[in-house]
Formats: sequence, C-alpha cells, structure tokens
Amino acid sequence: MKQLLKKYFGYDEFRPLQEEIIEYVLSGKDCFVLMPTGGGKSLCYQLPALKLNGLTLVVSPLIALMKDQVDALKTNGISAEYINSSLSPVQIQKIQDDIVAGKIKILYIAPERLGSTGFKKFLMAVNVKLIAIDEAHCISQWGHDFRPDYRSLKLFKSEFSKVPIIALTATATPKVQEDIVKQLSLDDPKSFISSFNRENLAMIVTRKKRAFEKLLGLLQKHKNSSAIIYCFSRKDTEKIAMNLQAEGFNALPYHAGLNSETRKKNQELFIKDEVSIIVATIAFGMGIDKPDVRLVVHYTFPKTIEGYYQEIGRAGRDGLPSDCVLFYSYGDVRKHEFFIDQMEDEVEREKSREKLSQIIEYCETVNCRRKHVLKYFGEEYSFPLVSKDEEQKGCESCDICLNPNSMFDATEISQKIISCVIRTGSRFGRNYIADVLLGKDLQQIVDNQHNNLSVFGIVSDFNKDEINHIMKSLIAYGFLQTSSGKYPTVSVTEKGILFLKQKEALELPKMREDLEDQEGSVLRGKMQYDLKLFEKLRIMRKQIADQNSVPPFMIFSDVSLQEMSRYFPVDKNSFAKIEGVGIKKLESFSKEFLFVISSHIQENNLQSTEIPNRGQIHNIGRRIGSASPERYIKTKEMLCKKLSILEIADKQGFKYGTIVAHIEKIISNGEDVDIDYLKPSQERLRKIKIAFEKCGDEKLKPVFEYLKREYSYDEIRLGKLFYK
Ligand code: ADP
Ligand code: MG
Repeated sequence: MKQLLKKYFGYDEFRPLQEEIIEYVLSGKDCFVLMPTGGGKSLCYQLPALKLNGLTLVVSPLIALMKDQVDALKTNGISAEYINSSLSPVQIQKIQDDIVAGKIKILYIAPERLGSTGFKKFLMAVNVKLIAIDEAHCISQWGHDFRPDYRSLKLFKSEFSKVPIIALTATATPKVQEDIVKQLSLDDPKSFISSFNRENLAMIVTRKKRAFEKLLGLLQKHKNSSAIIYCFSRKDTEKIAMNLQAEGFNALPYHAGLNSETRKKNQELFIKDEVSIIVATIAFGMGIDKPDVRLVVHYTFPKTIEGYYQEIGRAGRDGLPSDCVLFYSYGDVRKHEFFIDQMEDEVEREKSREKLSQIIEYCETVNCRRKHVLKYFGEEYSFPLVSKDEEQKGCESCDICLNPNSMFDATEISQKIISCVIRTGSRFGRNYIADVLLGKDLQQIVDNQHNNLSVFGIVSDFNKDEINHIMKSLIAYGFLQTSSGKYPTVSVTEKGILFLKQKEALELPKMREDLEDQEGSVLRGKMQYDLKLFEKLRIMRKQIADQNSVPPFMIFSDVSLQEMSRYFPVDKNSFAKIEGVGIKKLESFSKEFLFVISSHIQENNLQSTEIPNRGQIHNIGRRIGSASPERYIKTKEMLCKKLSILEIADKQGFKYGTIVAHIEKIISNGEDVDIDYLKPSQERLRKIKIAFEKCGDEKLKPVFEYLKREYSYDEIRLGKLFYK
C-alpha cells in the first residue's frame, strides 16, 4: 500500500486513519468516513481504486471540483475521467467506450446522471467495483447543503447490491451522520471518525480595532501566498478589495451578487495563483480545493461555529502552518443581532440566536480556542505531551495559549458572585448580578427588594467590567451556567455549589486588557528553507502549470517546493524522495526543477543535503498524536550530540517550539545537559535580556512587542533560558 502511495501520489506516510480505511474498503464492506476538510478523504477511495480490478465510481456534487480532481489524478498518472453536463454527447460516448474497454480506473459523476436510464443501463453493464459518495451530507436535509439529486443515490443499494459503498463527509453533526447511513441504506457500515483538530491552523481572535491596518499587516506577512478574507456583506467585499488594490495588493471580490462569469473568472485567477487575495462572502470556497491557502481572515465574525470551522478549514489543507484570524467587535455582534431580529420564522430566529451566542462565547472565552471548538463538536482535546505524564501548557497555536494570562486569587470575589446568583434566585443576567453586587441604586433592584440582600453592595474592589469578566470565567470553568435565548440568565452549577460549600481557593485568569495583535503564531513551526530558491521554483511551477492548463498546486504543492528549497536535490534519485513526487511527476517535471535547483546552488555556493528518513520530516507543522517520553529523552540525546534545534525538530517530526519546550523542561528538571552551543548571539541575547528587564518575565507578548516583533517567540523563550 505504501508503495502505491509513493508511486502514484508521491507521499511516504498515510495521514491518520487513511490506511485503516483503505484496508477496510478493500475488504469489500460498506463504511462511513468522517474527517475534517483537508483530512485527506479522497485518497481513501482513490488508492483502493488502483488495486481493484474494475471501475471505481465517485459521486461528487460540484462540477468544477470534478475537473480538478480528475486533472490531479491524471498528473499523477492515474487514468480517471468525469461525466457531467459540461461534456458533449460525443465526449461522453468516448469515455463510456474507454470504460467498457477497461481503460479507466476512476469515474466521477454528478448525482443527476443517475436520473438517466441510459446511463444506469450503462453502469449495470460495466464492472463497478466500488462506489464512493463524496460530500455525503448532501443527501441529508438536516445538513447545510442538501441536494435533492443526492436522493437518487438510494438506488445504489437496490440495484448494485454487491458493490461496497464508502460515504465521506466533513459534516460533524450526529443527526446528519445517522441520516446519511439511513438514506443510503448502508449495510452495517463501519464508521471511521477522525479528530477534527487541525493542528497546523493557528486560531487567533483579535479585537476589531484599526482593522484595515491589521489586515495589511497580516497580508504583508503572507505576501506571495494565497489568502481569503471573509466579510459581512457584498458591499464590504467590494470596498475592502478596492482598498487593498489601492495599497498595491492583488485582491479581487467574490460574492453571489456578481454575475456568474465574473465569479468564475475571479475564482480561476485565484486558483491559478494569478490573484493572491479573494475578499468574499461565505459564498466563496465550496467549489475549490486549493491546498495552499495560508491565511483566512474573518473581517466580521461568522454567524455560527460550524460556518467558522468550515471557513477556516479552507486554510492549510496541505498541512503547512497557516493562520486563521478573526476580528471581533461588539458592533458586529449588533450587526448580526439586527439581521436575526428581522427573521420572520420564530423557530429559525431562536435557532440563529442560539448559534450566535455560541460563537460569541467562543470569541470571548478565556480558555484555549482549540479546546473550545473541538468541545463544541463533541471532541475532548488534550494538549500534547511534553514528557511521559506532563502535558504541554497549551495548544501552542491559539491566541490564548500563546499569550497565557496571569492568574489572580479569585476565591473571595467568586464566592460573592455565586452567592449573589443564588440569592437573587437564578433568574437574572450578568449585568443585573453585577449591579446588585456593586450596590447600584436601580429601580428594578428596589422593586425586587434585592437592595435588602446581604450581597447588595458587597463588592467595592472590582468594577462592572471586571465582575462581568470574572463571571465569564466562572461560566467557562463550569461554576456558573447560562440559559440560551436573547436574555440569558445565570444560574449556579453543582460544581459552583460545591465550591461555595467547601470553601476552596480558586485562581482565575486576569482580565486581558486587549486582545490586540496576537498574530505571533505566524512565526512558529515553519520549515527553514531557501526563500530565494522557493520563489524561483514557484515561478517555474507557474510556467509549467500554464503550459499544462492546470493550477500550479497540481504540479507540486508548497510542501514539495519547500523541501526542494531546503534539501537541494540535484539528481533524479534524490528528487524522487521529495514529498509529492511520484513516478509520473518525476518523469514529467524533474528535469526543469532540477535545473533551477542546480543553477541556484551553484550561483550561491550551496550544497545539497541528504533527505532524512520519512515519517520524520513531513510532520512539520503537524504534531504526531501525542509525544512519548522517548521523544523527550531523544531530544536530550541529540542535545548531547550538539544538534541544532531545527535538526532535532526535523528528526522527531516536531515543531521547533516543542523542542524549545523540551529544553525548558530539561533545564527546569536540573538535568545535566550542556546547551551553551544553542545560545543566541551575544547581541541578540543582550537585546532579549533588556526586553525582559523592561517588561518582566511573566508574559512573552510584551517582550515580543518590545523587540518590535523582530525576534520569534521561540527565540525569546530560548533567550530567557540563558538569561535566567
Ligand atoms: P478532504 O477531501 O478530506 O478535504 P483531500 O482529499 O482534498 O482532503 O486532501 C487534502 C490535501 O492533503 C490534498 O492536497 C492531498 O493531496 C493531501 N494529502 C492527502 N493524503 C496525504 C498524505 N498521506 N500525505 C500528504 N498529503 C496528503
Ligand atoms: Mg474532499
């Protein structure tokens, strides 16, 4: 299986679950696959198709995607075709003849096709060995993208009862999952459900202040790579696209109000890397599988967590570190509320309100964003392990974990708040509770006779904002809970009652002054490679792509180009080891790329290095499930051998920052390892030290800012070790 994977797709390792799924599919039984966008679902039927002696039929809802998928398979040397309304009857006949002649392994069709009796007859007459139903949620009216035509897929089980079905989706709700299995009458299917965590995505929420300036900063950092900016309205997309153009950025708008020609053209320019920024409403993204989107910005926060996760899911499908930044403001909360209030259907309106309050909760949380979202989807996420039984302190890639808040002793204030909630009968919202605690002279309080309670005016050392913040923390930590609806009321949980009774001490995070500027993550986890060569290779890739009339990412992914720019392969043998290079691409493209690489290293006096064994290097930006203690010990061993942090990270398939965390641990354990050789240059160390002296060493962010963002968080952490 691994041989086929390398031969045809150029990959050396399977992603989680792929191998198990493929084996199961080949055993001839039905299965259901749930994986997040970018998880690698296609491979789960494409690879079996190569092994099966017959045709694999793939149902897919989007005509544009079909062409891309087929083109991608063809550039990998796999015989695939699609049949849909964009083809002429003559073209269709030719493809059908080729299928009968056994020349084609994979056929993509749109569901409408099954409505044609002629086509059904044709299918019955050929040797269909596997049926894959991509985007299977389209069959369910509970999903967000119901396609009535998908209902015709029911006929597979009645008329092709011997052919196994694999149904695939990224839609997480259990109701839809059940419905898919039922509608397709899958035969006792095994479910493969992978984690929804996309660890290469940095999840950043920042306050929407000086938003356009911030946006410019982000785009500057991601210059020359693809970005999507989601906006609230069509007008916003046009305005922002125009303003970006005025700033010299290559940006185009995309929304449902544009005529279909313009939409198609703008999307194509984006896919072909001729335009790097699309400013869009949610209408954009469904029809593309562009794997190298490095930045997704929500200029206005989305209406639901589902929408948010789907949209940020379009970043970094290739597994490389990518940034997802959401701009949050109360003004936008009101914008959303305004629209919800206009909704006629009461049930829909309440549902939308509930969804809105969930995304607001996400934006305002004081805990790890990754944990929060995954929990929303029913998944318990724990931080990766640094050593045998110690978890990392955070996910390392959300704004909260990157800038941990310092804590304060909140025992007393929390007791007061919880008592007040109980005394007032768990019938009021946060604001009211705060007003009572502060002893505000308000009519409502007097009417309720709450000015007679012992908790009335009991707080004098916190202001209303602070009390509100503490209540949010108490909610986040499960001591309080809120009801849903437009005017949520607060009540006490069992945990809260226990806390009061047992008089335990409690620490809560201090209020964040501002959620400003927390994009530091951009600097983390990146592979080091020769940027100049990368640019040259990108240009070559674009040329070859245009000659072949396919998007550049189909020639080679950014991962492949980065590896070329790091290891400088100079002959076909070493070129073949680059991720994404299979036999067909080796034959078709190695000559041109090798030429560019050789010239570059000659001009610059560089040397080609050996490509490390697999399972190691391409985990950059992707952490392996959980780190074992051996990893930590290995880091120690490699430190003794005086390897650089980068080399250690590479060999273990970890991020740079994880190795720094290992080192921090080793030092704090007082273990005897000489790390002097890792010391940053004296000048840099001096600057870091000064910054720490100025800003204190509680938080890294002020230090990062003080150093004008010229030092990465990792280097600052490393510097701290030496300075300490
Ligand atoms: P999904 O359909 O689940 O959103 P895709 O099948 O489109 O995901 O795959 C996403 C990206 O991951 C593609 O660019 C694909 O080439 C890449 N990919 C899939 N499997 C692997 C693998 N085993 N190793 C490296 N890259 C992979
Ligand atoms: Mg897919």
